[in-house]
Amino acid sequence: MDNISKNGFDEANSPFFLPNAQVKAGLRMMQQLEALTTANVDITRELNLEMVLQRIADTARDFGGANYSALGIVNSAGVITSFITSGISQTEREQIGAPPRGHGLLGILIEQGQPLRVPDMSRDPRRSGFPPHHPPMTSLLGVPVSLEGRVVGNLYLTDKTGSVEFTADDERWIILFAQQAAIAVENANLYKKMSEAHQRAQTLAELTSALNRAIEPGELFQQITRAACHLLELPAAALYLLNNRRTFFELEAQTGLRQSETGKDALSLEDSIAGQVLVSQRSLSVPDTSRLSKILFLPMTNGKRPQALLVVPIRLNAQHIVGVIEVYSVEPREFSQEEIALLEAFADQAALSLERVRIYQQKEDFLSMTAHDLRAPLTAIKMSSGLLQSSLPDNLPQPLLQLVANISRNSERLNAMLEDLLDLTRLEQGRIHFKLSKVELGSIVRATAQTLLPMFEGKGQTLSLEFTAPTIPVTLDRHRFEQILVNLLTNAHKYTPAGGQVLISFTRLSECFRLYITDNGPGIPENEQELIFNRYYRRAPHEQSTETTGSGLGLPIARRLAELQNGKLWVESTAGRGSTFCLELPLEAISEAF
Ligand code: ADP
Repeated sequence: MDNISKNGFDEANSPFFLPNAQVKAGLRMMQQLEALTTANVDITRELNLEMVLQRIADTARDFGGANYSALGIVNSAGVITSFITSGISQTEREQIGAPPRGHGLLGILIEQGQPLRVPDMSRDPRRSGFPPHHPPMTSLLGVPVSLEGRVVGNLYLTDKTGSVEFTADDERWIILFAQQAAIAVENANLYKKMSEAHQRAQTLAELTSALNRAIEPGELFQQITRAACHLLELPAAALYLLNNRRTFFELEAQTGLRQSETGKDALSLEDSIAGQVLVSQRSLSVPDTSRLSKILFLPMTNGKRPQALLVVPIRLNAQHIVGVIEVYSVEPREFSQEEIALLEAFADQAALSLERVRIYQQKEDFLSMTAHDLRAPLTAIKMSSGLLQSSLPDNLPQPLLQLVANISRNSERLNAMLEDLLDLTRLEQGRIHFKLSKVELGSIVRATAQTLLPMFEGKGQTLSLEFTAPTIPVTLDRHRFEQILVNLLTNAHKYTPAGGQVLISFTRLSECFRLYITDNGPGIPENEQELIFNRYYRRAPHEQSTETTGSGLGLPIARRLAELQNGKLWVESTAGRGSTFCLELPLEAISEAF
């Protein structure tokens, strides 16, 4: 009678009705499946690796009905590299200390790669025991997390809630969950690698574009070692270039290494990793330098010998190696394929920059040599034409007088250009000495303006001074300061149309002063405001400018002079509305700086 339902069916014997127990099991399975699906969706919602791992541990605890859970990630050697827990508070976690080393029951799980179910961990003979402060735990269910047959970690559930131990059913469900967890870990790993690769490519692009701006070899060498450190997040790097006869490597720059006494250091081809790179024509890494006791390395800034290094060749083409970049680590370590490829890509870019700078230097050397050679004959022409001009009788035909005046004026201009060229070379080679003296700023500016006034008046321009501050005593090299001033004022005069206005003003700041030269000339478009400080850069002549001659050296010289005095020079301008050249110099130039 019990089995007869209200509507008169005999449920037990009917083919349409399942026994109660089966219905319950089916229902439970449906619930579990639903819970598994929710759990799977939950763990694939994140992409950040750390968050995915934490979510797996949390979800496993809920899904598996345990008080605690943990996810241990293992490397190919079976060593636990990260251990994420759930159910234990942060303070408890800190009290427990270091993650488990993978002995005892965890070790068995890692080693065998099979699920493990234990009713009471604290009594199991295979246990290695809990560390102090570990909360007491009894039942354990552990399953491997594997991907394509490779165990990447283990999932542990402990203290089954509401029951003494985990069942075979729990085990089956957790195995299913672990499969999804492995995919989530792999996805997050791939995402991490992809983001890192993207990040590195971006850093590489930024660093190489910085290399492209260097024009001075020493500056470029230094940039290369600094960038190499930055790229691989390592504390030290060195740049070695082969000498001309290719008989040894010379240290050109270093970062994070102790400077040797001489400042220059060489590596022999026989006893160095760089030498081996040259022979093998490929990058070499040394994960542990303690095995290379015969090879000498420059000590790192902490005084210690580098423990690992990676050396990549700098090649101008497939066969032609010109040097190496070495990066060092304080700890022994392996270098991944990606790291090697990254440094190699950087070395290729460095090679291009080194070649560019070498050619640039050759050109500069050639120019300064030519300028030197031209100087003597030009001085002779200048002097002779000057003499000729002053000794010619006034009654000569006008065209003849004009010709001599032309020779004289143009030889003066040529001479000024040569002087600029030589000056810039001297500045760049650091062959200029500053002679400091105490002067009053306003009086030198006034005196310089006074000498240039006829030039402005000749073009119907006004030159005014606006000194709001009282006297400003400064210590600087008067001659070099005037040189900057004359350069800027001559430009203002040259590029401002006839009848224009030029204003000199200055302000005093706490440690420095600023001098502004403002004109109402054609102005300089924003994209050219930095370029005009490059050598030989000249803007296309403005239609209103009467003067179109020049060498494109005035501004680079002025900026270099300012920088050598620990100052700055820049321009603020709106095209069509005039320009303001701003010069900032310290009130007290420090003589040691020179
Ligand atoms: P140069 O005057 O010999 O060409 P500079 O290095 O002094 O060389 O100047 C570089 C370029 O900057 C000039 O060719 C000119 O186009 C621009 N320039 C410099 N000063 C001014 C200014 N006051 N107004 C407008 N353009 C200027």
